[in-house]
Amino acid sequence: QWAYELGHSGEEPVNIPLHACEHFYLLTHPLKEPLASNLPTIVDPDGRIYIRNWQGGILSGGFEKNPKPLFTEGRNQLEIQHLQEDWDHFEPLLSALLRRMPDLEALQIMQLVNCPESFTPDMRCIMGESPTVRGYFVLAGMNSAGISYGGGAGKYLAEWMVNGYPSENVWPLDLKRFGSLQSSRTFLRHRVMEVMPLMCDLKVPRWDFQTGRQLRTSPLYDRLDAQGARWMEKHGFERVKYFVPPGKDLLDLDQSKTFYKPDWFDIVGSEVKCCKEAVCVIDMSSFTKFEISSTGDQALESLQYLFSNDLDVPVGHVVHTGMLNEKGGYENDCSIARLSKRSFFMISPTDQQVHCWAWLKNHLPDDSNLTMEDVTWKYTALNLIGPRAVDVLSELSYAPITPDHFPSLFCKEMSVGYANGIRVMSITHTGEPGFMLYIPIEYALHVYNEVMNMGQKYGIRNAGYYALRSLRIEKFFAFWGQDLDAFTTPMECGREFQVKLEKGMQFVGQEALMEQKQNGVYKRFTMFILEDHDTDVDLWPWWGEPIFRNGRYVGKTTSSAYSYTLERHVCLGFVQHFDEKTGEELVVTTDFINQGEYEIDIAGQRFQAKAKLYPFSSLFTQRRRKDEVELSGYQRE
Ligand SMILES: Cc1cc2nc3c(=O)[nH]c(=O)nc-3n(C[C@H](O)[C@H](O)[C@H](O)COP(=O)(O)OP(=O)(O)OC[C@H]3O[C@@H](n4cnc5c(N)ncnc54)[C@H](O)[C@@H]3O)c2cc1C
Repeated sequence: QWAYELGHSGEEPVNIPLHACEHFYLLTHPLKEPLASNLPTIVDPDGRIYIRNWQGGILSGGFEKNPKPLFTEGRNQLEIQHLQEDWDHFEPLLSALLRRMPDLEALQIMQLVNCPESFTPDMRCIMGESPTVRGYFVLAGMNSAGISYGGGAGKYLAEWMVNGYPSENVWPLDLKRFGSLQSSRTFLRHRVMEVMPLMCDLKVPRWDFQTGRQLRTSPLYDRLDAQGARWMEKHGFERVKYFVPPGKDLLDLDQSKTFYKPDWFDIVGSEVKCCKEAVCVIDMSSFTKFEISSTGDQALESLQYLFSNDLDVPVGHVVHTGMLNEKGGYENDCSIARLSKRSFFMISPTDQQVHCWAWLKNHLPDDSNLTMEDVTWKYTALNLIGPRAVDVLSELSYAPITPDHFPSLFCKEMSVGYANGIRVMSITHTGEPGFMLYIPIEYALHVYNEVMNMGQKYGIRNAGYYALRSLRIEKFFAFWGQDLDAFTTPMECGREFQVKLEKGMQFVGQEALMEQKQNGVYKRFTMFILEDHDTDVDLWPWWGEPIFRNGRYVGKTTSSAYSYTLERHVCLGFVQHFDEKTGEELVVTTDFINQGEYEIDIAGQRFQAKAKLYPFSSLFTQRRRKDEVELSGYQRE
């Protein structure tokens, strides 16, 4: 609890978003036959209670559905010193305890204790260095699991403080996954009321918090909402999952909480189909956007050192590149457009806003001629995906945008409708043709309306992130935060071509990558197509499923999706090679990947899978050609 207060007590505030709830537990006198001190803790998730030994008696508490956050009356810390017992509030937990262990009724209760217990906005603890104050390390917000986490969390934080980084990927716990936006007391109070009961609930895939929502929204939010958008949240930003077509039972869809085939299957399928055959628009405004510029060559020189791909490209080109650490691992994976000789526009994943900013601030030279600005809020981003995106955009702008004039990975400022200065990039993050439009926010509604009106004759419709996910996974595109992290390198995921190793330039991570190039890699990003998996009846893969090669465990999946093109599930994940006798890690070669028989284990059931190191690009090209012929039929729909 105090971490929040302490963080705000300095001149430069450190935001540590956690908030305490009142936590009730009762203590009994010892049993006639005192309980053994090594009695395991018993947890009854249905009853929302835990039971453990306490001096030969019972200590039992729980996580009620209606928690009481502290500071409810806006009172100060004194509230903590005067927490009262509340038997009415504890009654459901007491009933659950007596239902589970009826004999306890005879036990004499000693005390009902009320103490503060801290929770975080995503139920994961908070650790790491502050993004704003160097050397300020945090380990807090244990979500009532501080004893279990204590040892590991302490170890990784100690490594972090001593070596500058922990020995495992702890991004899900990193303080930098949060920013000031999660630090409002009202937000925290509402959110922890949802978090605490979750301690006993089953979390299904694609599950979202319901509290603290509509904090960051695109200017198009209301327009999209009125058209049936279903929302999810990332870093406080509302993003569309999919659009419910008119006439569908909305209530039913909201309840699609399952590990099996979800209700949105057909809806997302039709959005994917439209991306492949006509044109879709996805609002991707949540992307993190920075502008970096300088008076001379400082911006180029600094970025060349901090990024692994060559950024000295002609003005108007977009470069896909990693921002690597000394070990060659991805601290960020982003697209950088060269706007002029001395200015760059950088697009990163949504949850990079704090981490990437802090990394660049710490690594860029302290030079008043070099400036960096977070322009995330200034631009609405629309992704126009599909073979007809070019037609829509051509009609709305007078600039030629056919592939001859506007090749892939190109960026140009142009007017769209009445609006000027729209940054258009020929990139869609899906492997499909189309454009990203970065629109100054005051023009967002105008450009969206123009695109939708003009798009009518090309079969345009709205789409959401689930369609995007299916498209990118079937193309074998890795995403930072899901597939890539600070412990995966470009060499391990087939991206050597995005690294300037041969150009004689120095950059962070270069030595580590050189070594991998010479000696090989110990894990390899691989695509799996499930063979005997029945999408309708079998449990779906989500992520984290074990991968078996010739019956032996070799790694885990990092993301998966149903491919509506291949009509199969696709899983992405890393394959390792362990010596059969010693368990020692060995180099993973292409032959090793290609010569194995694979299975993916979904909740204990294994499914055969075909491993691929390269996407089925030929298959997708063929399909697209065929679809072009069928396009006229699509327009009549
Ligand atoms: C009844 C109960 C049962 C639990 N059971 C489990 C369990 O089974 N498994 C599990 O993993 N977790 C369990 N927890 C949660 C776990 O105890 C906490 O998550 C963990 O103790 C939090 O660790 P901490 O170091 O952040 O805070 P704390 O353990 O609360 O440590 C904070 C320390 O700071 C001291 N302090 C406070 N203010 C000041 C000040 N102004 N100056 C100096 N010192 C100060 C306090 O006295 C205290 O020693 C349980 C908690 C409770 C209440």
